[in-house]
Amino acid sequence: MQALVYKSAWDVTLEERPEPSITEEHQVLVRIRATGVCGTDLGIVSGKYHAVSSVILGHESAGDVVSVGRGVTTLKPGDRVVIDPTYYCGHCEMCRTGRQNHCIHKSVTETGVSANGTFTDYYVTEDRFLYPLKDHVSYEEATLTEPLSCILTGINQIRLLPNFRTVVLGAGPIGILYSYALASKGVTGSIVDISKERLAIAGSIAPERWRTYDSFETAAAEASSGGGQVDLIVDTTGVVGTQVLPSLANGGYLMLVGLRDGVSTFNPKEVVDRSLKIIGSIDSLGTFSTAHYMIERQIIPAQKIITHTYPLARYREAFQALGCDLDGRSLSPSSQAIKVILQSV
Ligand SMILES: [Zn+2]
Ligand SMILES: [Zn+2]
Repeated sequence: MQALVYKSAWDVTLEERPEPSITEEHQVLVRIRATGVCGTDLGIVSGKYHAVSSVILGHESAGDVVSVGRGVTTLKPGDRVVIDPTYYCGHCEMCRTGRQNHCIHKSVTETGVSANGTFTDYYVTEDRFLYPLKDHVSYEEATLTEPLSCILTGINQIRLLPNFRTVVLGAGPIGILYSYALASKGVTGSIVDISKERLAIAGSIAPERWRTYDSFETAAAEASSGGGQVDLIVDTTGVVGTQVLPSLANGGYLMLVGLRDGVSTFNPKEVVDRSLKIIGSIDSLGTFSTAHYMIERQIIPAQKIITHTYPLARYREAFQALGCDLDGRSLSPSSQAIKVILQSV
């Protein structure tokens, strides 16, 4: 089978790999149909995020069950499924203390990062990580389940109120999905991006009553009727850091979900004195089932968020659409695409 393999920074290539096979009784062999290109993939490819050399990339995926191990009773060949790629052992200290997203085996089990992923035709996982798809949900739409699940995990860490004045930074797929996940909890906020083109797309697909702005200050001023302070800032860009802390109201939250290296400073006295919360959140924890439900019930307009699809062989164009130029070795924010999907046809 053809697989998109990461070698080193800027060196990814389609390679022939053997089809994996089932070796344990709870395993399931899945024929991959669609996998979303994620910011993490762009980070890996551009050398900003570590991955194991020779790993098959890709982790946001859906496909068909091909065969099942002897112990699998809930799935059969032909079933359409979406994959929860966040493996956890269930036995280590992290797993036993409710932090399965930080399972100690992550360094060798993280799909598409430290373990082979789904930018290919076949993938073996366990039945506990598969969720059936209803006929009306396409494989492409289903690929949004994983990023949505990560977002729900982030939101679970906030004592959220519907009247929180909210600004989401970044109009990429994570920013748009955050807006919908927050809207599903009654929140009306705004999305900020510096790209006018991306803002225009975001404006046409944002949740009802949500607004879009090209500057954080304007968004914060609008949200707070001129006061400039808001209750929740979600930074999906990874470049803002704690410089927005003065714009948080007392007791407010700064949610950091952009995977970018950087240095940020804050005054601990201010954080204490104003009861501020700075929260980081990675991967999903107990939220995949809810994300699956929200995609199935079309609470998230998955079709509108997916702006581009390409066959796997055209991965270079797919990355290019997201601002990642493999030939020119440059990564810039995309101005034309929101979510890009690679299809294994
Ligand atoms: Zn992802
Ligand atoms: Zn574990």
